[in-house]
Amino acid sequence: MSDVEPAAGISGWTLCSGGGCEGVTGSAHLLTTGDRSVLVDAGLFQGTGEDAANAEPWPFDPRAIDAVVLTHAHLDHVGRLPRLWADGYRGHVFATAATIAVAGVVLRDAARIQAEDLARARRRARRAGGKAPPARPPYRDADVDAVLAQARPVAFHRRFTVCRGVQGTLGRAGHVLGAAWLALDGAGGRVLVSGDLGDADGPLHPPPEPPPTTDALLLESTYADAHHRDWAATLREFGEVVRHTLERGGNVLIPTFALERTQAVLNALQTLEATGVIARCRVVLDAPMGERMTELYRRFPQTLRASVAERLARGEDPFRPEHLEIARGGGMARALHAARGVVIIAGAGMLTGGRILQHLRVHLPHPRNTLVFVGYQAEGTLGREIADGARRVRLSGQTVPVAAEVLAVPGFSAHADAPALDAWWQASGARVVVPVHGEAHARHVLAARVAAAGRRALQARRGEPLAL
Ligand code: ZN
Repeated sequence: MSDVEPAAGISGWTLCSGGGCEGVTGSAHLLTTGDRSVLVDAGLFQGTGEDAANAEPWPFDPRAIDAVVLTHAHLDHVGRLPRLWADGYRGHVFATAATIAVAGVVLRDAARIQAEDLARARRRARRAGGKAPPARPPYRDADVDAVLAQARPVAFHRRFTVCRGVQGTLGRAGHVLGAAWLALDGAGGRVLVSGDLGDADGPLHPPPEPPPTTDALLLESTYADAHHRDWAATLREFGEVVRHTLERGGNVLIPTFALERTQAVLNALQTLEATGVIARCRVVLDAPMGERMTELYRRFPQTLRASVAERLARGEDPFRPEHLEIARGGGMARALHAARGVVIIAGAGMLTGGRILQHLRVHLPHPRNTLVFVGYQAEGTLGREIADGARRVRLSGQTVPVAAEVLAVPGFSAHADAPALDAWWQASGARVVVPVHGEAHARHVLAARVAAAGRRALQARRGEPLAL
């Protein structure tokens, strides 16, 4: 796709990454063999100061791409898909049926947030007389509908024609609902894309399926420099935190991401109740997106652990602690103003918005309550500020003291750790490995381990063709 002719590689594939090769967000990897090119994922850059990256032109011509395959529907893997359509892509979008369903919810929500952000920017510009914001958001509902109409569901393990001359196969990645790794076979041999690989002993998803043998591998490296604690220890730790808080008459606030983390927390609370670690208590889910995702977990049990899928098949609900209340409208924070002994689950996971903010305003000032982080808190977010020990924070223009206990239970990870990633790439037999989807340190240590094993580790740079 570029005028620059890259150096020869081991396989006949060339990578031109549009994001997700030098950081953990914005995944978009264009793989080319002969005159065929396939884009794997079209994710959004997330985090402070990333708006500009999302507005940058693609380093390839969207109209010249033969097909798109999605590994899973996290926003950092699908969030720029409607823009790809708006920029002229008209081909198919292959993914598992569950991923297509999740992407629908994720992308419509993103379009709504973009429209709201733009309206807010316009109001602010009018008041301040400053620079006018862009006339339209990066994409709208119509773009989402149009690109999703191109979606073609693909079953696991069944070879499918991605485009003329390229065959694809999806395997279970065990990361979130519908998540897959992807093997592409073409004139240039095989290239394997890991997508995001799940944690081996998480409560909902089975470990990633072993990889097929491959020439080249794009491997996620989110936690390539970390070791995870096992799930049993995490569950014990989480149970202790909840039990202590409830026993002193406090409330437990758990900010969660809608996809996977909400369901993992609900499932963990149910298990803790069933095993008597915590008393059966009032659990409030005040997260419309989280509830919609939980509904999809019930509808698509194919990527879940057999034990979880069997419970669903028997008509049981693995996402329902005994006294679960689903908040329908807004205003739940006001209703819980004087409540004691309640577990409150709400988004957003890093406190960057959402209903959790209203609950924080009510419950943060009281030392009997506990705020429990079950997910990563990125730099620049309110979640990170509180996790780092801020004693007072600004919430919607108000200063709120942080008197509640603040704890992190880091074991709720949806990603493979260093030993699991090593076992996976070694099993693939790949002669060339490209660490992607990781911060610099994680990518470097993974590359060093690959090189130490006598394989070739390559670093991709955004927009620069790389022969694999
Ligand atoms: Zn992911």
